[in-house]
Amino acid sequence: MSFADFHRRSIEQPEAFWAEQAQLIDWQQPFEQVCDYSRPPFVHWFAGGKTNLCHNAVDRHLKDRGDQNALIWVSTEVDKEIVYSFSELHAEVQRMAAMLLALGVGKGDRVLIYMPMIAEACFAMLACARIGAIHSVVFGGFASVSLASRIDNATPKLIVSADAGSRGGKSVPYKGLLDEAIQLAQHKPAKVLMVDRGLAPFTPVAGRDEDYAALRRQHMDTEVPCAWVDATHPSYTLYTSGTTGVPKGVQRDTGGYAVALAASMKHIFLGNPGETYFSTSDIGWVVGHSYIIYGPLIAGMATIMYEGLPIRPDAGVWWSLVEKYKVTSMFSAPTAVRVLKKQDPAYLKKYDLSSLRALFLAGEPLDEPTAKWIAEALGRPIIDNYWQTETGWPILSLCNGIEPAPSKFGSPGKAVYGYDVKLLNESTGEPVQGADEKGVVMIEGPLPPGCMQTVWQDDARFVKTYWTEAKGRWLYSTFDWGIRDKDGYYFILGRTDDVINVAGHRLGTREIEESISSHPNVAEVAVVGVADQLKGQVAMAFVIAKDASALGDSAARLKLEGDIMKVVDGQLGAVARPSRVHFVTALPKTRSGKLLRRALQAVAEGRDPGDLTTIEDPTALQQVKDLVAAR
Ligand code: ATP
Ligand code: MG
Repeated sequence: MSFADFHRRSIEQPEAFWAEQAQLIDWQQPFEQVCDYSRPPFVHWFAGGKTNLCHNAVDRHLKDRGDQNALIWVSTEVDKEIVYSFSELHAEVQRMAAMLLALGVGKGDRVLIYMPMIAEACFAMLACARIGAIHSVVFGGFASVSLASRIDNATPKLIVSADAGSRGGKSVPYKGLLDEAIQLAQHKPAKVLMVDRGLAPFTPVAGRDEDYAALRRQHMDTEVPCAWVDATHPSYTLYTSGTTGVPKGVQRDTGGYAVALAASMKHIFLGNPGETYFSTSDIGWVVGHSYIIYGPLIAGMATIMYEGLPIRPDAGVWWSLVEKYKVTSMFSAPTAVRVLKKQDPAYLKKYDLSSLRALFLAGEPLDEPTAKWIAEALGRPIIDNYWQTETGWPILSLCNGIEPAPSKFGSPGKAVYGYDVKLLNESTGEPVQGADEKGVVMIEGPLPPGCMQTVWQDDARFVKTYWTEAKGRWLYSTFDWGIRDKDGYYFILGRTDDVINVAGHRLGTREIEESISSHPNVAEVAVVGVADQLKGQVAMAFVIAKDASALGDSAARLKLEGDIMKVVDGQLGAVARPSRVHFVTALPKTRSGKLLRRALQAVAEGRDPGDLTTIEDPTALQQVKDLVAAR
């Protein structure tokens, strides 16, 4: 079947289409209705059906592949590698599930997971799914204030945590942050289950903290059957990255999510049972949920969970894993590729990468120089895909499992099956008709299986934040804008609030960034619009130079600034030329590697940067403050 037909069927006959995809997972009780959209924009997929995520990820593979690799945990932080077969994973998850039950956790209770990238974090997620508890993973090492607000929002009965994470070989203690967060929070969890890695000494809180190793010994052989839950039972809550404001608590279902992931592993990520998948993300993000833990395991694949940096002990470490475990599909982010790009490309040639079918990238715009560099270095298709925490799986991608299609640089591909994507003209509010016309990326409801059900505990916020209704049709906004070319490929131009209006001309920051990054001495760039009395707004650029020695004195900086402005003049016209190009050594990013553009813009305009709970390195913002103050 051609992809066009496949996609058309998913939109025109969604019930038949998704009923077929639903066969990719096990159901304990078949569903009665494929899609209940009687109360838009809320949708219930597979109503009446009962299933279990952990059963689909683990138990159902025991018969055919119990001895095959399931979880490959690799830590270059503590120099350890442990491989769990499906049977071993099954045993560990049951032990963890037994502990949760013993500590009073039941179906529907929340469990907050605040952990580093260790196997026990995976056990904890699957154990929650097994007993019908709702997990809420919070990126390990988040500051106590951000953690406290998530504790209050999720009101967990139990928190699973560890003494410490590790970064660049140095331990990052978690326990102090956790204790502080619990103190700050209104809600107090009854119990804290502590995995002691021996990385940072801590004092347990009597009556509250439980030791994982000791409890595990009591449950070595305890069997915990999967609790069959409704397809619509919430499986987890997870916060968005906080790039544009205060993070939103996304609530996900069970049945729709399992089906969506199983289908995506086949049609998008080219995964087959018995193969190995490697996603370099973190379990604190949606990519980690969907494509480190649930997706690959549901597909019967081994999954690599990696704790460490991409360049330690050297920049070949990821590729050495591809060779060693014959990885067939790999998933990473442009920000990680940019880190590798600064290293010797010889590391990519050192290993046998012949098992690899494709490298998938997502999370932020993939600029052309970065895409070209990695495509040439790897000699494998690079498949950019575009989605959100809210959707849980790709909105735009190439579905090469249905019909192979060429990648276009700068484009995350076409609308994926199940997504009725519309580009909405901002001034008329009508969908754009022709090719190459700009519009806001919207999805006509119902959202396909696997997407967010609602904002946790806040249906009103869900409707108000994301949806608009016109003549009975509900449209979900992604808050990104883009264009579609004549072949149906989309190009994401940036966030809707990243549009700069220079003397009446509407410009995307992404377009200006693309142009600036074509200058040979630009490693990374961020462009923001800043208020200007004359023109309304002007573009301001912040650049990390590849060769910092070219910035020796102010004359050299002025010269490079002028050269970069000329590039923009030549490619986009003088109207897009940044009013200033500042040189920095770091850009403010979220922990997941996304540019915190709203914070950058606020500081560039001398305003308060707002919610910074997800920022990686606050000194990056300080540099900008200093530069702007010195102006
Ligand atoms: P918040 O919603 O809290 O402001 P966030 O939008 O960064 O944070 P995520 O859900 O992690 O939270 O990110 C989704 C967003 O990331 C998309 O809306 C889009 O802006 C961007 N994005 C993801 N993948 C791509 C891609 N392949 N190309 C361009 N942009 C992408
Ligand atoms: Mg968002």
